[in-house]
Amino acid sequence: MEKSNISGNLLPEDLHMLRFGKRFDEVVYLDDYVCPICHSRIDEFGYCACDAHGD
Ligand SMILES: [Zn+2]
Repeated sequence: MEKSNISGNLLPEDLHMLRFGKRFDEVVYLDDYVCPICHSRIDEFGYCACDAHGD
């Protein structure tokens, strides 16, 4: 349990798993819904790259 080293050797997909609960390639994005701040697609949970949730 090395919580303090969580960003050390993890793959991007692992970080995504920690953050979103699943791998990035399993995320379903809403193609017609883009965050007005970071212009990233927002997934079905309302999360984008900047966590503004498009709101
Ligand atoms: Zn955003």
